[in-house]
Amino acid sequence: MTRPTPAMRRAMAEAQVGDDVYGEDPTANRLQDLAAELLGFERALFFPSGTMANQVALLLHLPRGSEVLAPEGAHLYEYELGAPALLAGALVRAVPAPGGVPDLEARKRAIRRGPFQAPTGLIALENTHNLAGGRVVPLEVQKAVQALAQAHGLPTHLDGARLFNAATFLGVEAKEVARGFTTLMVSLSKGLGAPVESLLLLPKDLEAEARRYRKLLGGGLRQAGVLAAGILALTEGPKHLKRDHALARALAEGLARLGLKVEPVETNMVYLEVPDPQGFLERLKAQGVLAGAVGGRVRFVTHRDLRDEDIPQALEAVDRALQSKAP
Ligand SMILES: *Cc1c(COP(=O)(O)O)cnc(C)c1O
Repeated sequence: MTRPTPAMRRAMAEAQVGDDVYGEDPTANRLQDLAAELLGFERALFFPSGTMANQVALLLHLPRGSEVLAPEGAHLYEYELGAPALLAGALVRAVPAPGGVPDLEARKRAIRRGPFQAPTGLIALENTHNLAGGRVVPLEVQKAVQALAQAHGLPTHLDGARLFNAATFLGVEAKEVARGFTTLMVSLSKGLGAPVESLLLLPKDLEAEARRYRKLLGGGLRQAGVLAAGILALTEGPKHLKRDHALARALAEGLARLGLKVEPVETNMVYLEVPDPQGFLERLKAQGVLAGAVGGRVRFVTHRDLRDEDIPQALEAVDRALQSKAP
């Protein structure tokens, strides 16, 4: 929902560009160097989308016929169109993760090494976890999962599309949330405000192979530097997230006052259940308030383009949408 800011549009208009397929786009290179430094990885690679970056990570880690353990509801299988099967030729096994927090014992039991089953090749996490309500996985849990992976000689991947939201909630540097994973995907679109683009962070020895897969999937962009908005999304975007979270809390409190059953809010998402979600969303849209139906629930997302007064106005619209009968 965010639109590029005037500063982002200026940066894009004035961006110096070269051919990024040859690694010669100075703006894409600056973005990648900046991200690697900021998140504590050896390398960062520009991607047109988070989906492509996640799937390249699976291609890098998973031999065909192996499986990735992912928290239930993970984006990489719920919303990536079966790509793990189609591209990496891998299975995804969902492991229980109440509130987005993976159950460690279940993970331990899920690791497969025997000769008669698909071997586990990767352990994945998602932080913040979208379908679990934008909830944050605590750093101790991340560390325990990494230790488990290490004990079995397995790599780890973090779907950190909303890594900066997790860092904001935890009150730590983004680097702390990124620490210890073999690879990491982070989105510069969505809450950070860039129009498109995500990054895959990775060790140096995986870079050449990651570039090969990116090109193979059609993600080798020539003058990627025209998307220079990503630099501002990365450096300035995170500063706005605290306010996004405060707006979400205010919205959640207001919805609860209206008698609605709202799920716990930790970041910029407010999930709730209403009878007839589709009808509710249509009546809401007619009043200029957009929300989505996600996983059978209604999801509101707050973001940097909202004004403070949008929250009370949205609550009034919700109140009216609840009162009025479905057409
Ligand atoms: C949006 C999202 C993605 C995919 O990003 P796109 O740029 O939309 O492809 C991956 N993981 C999570 C958790 C997301 O929310």
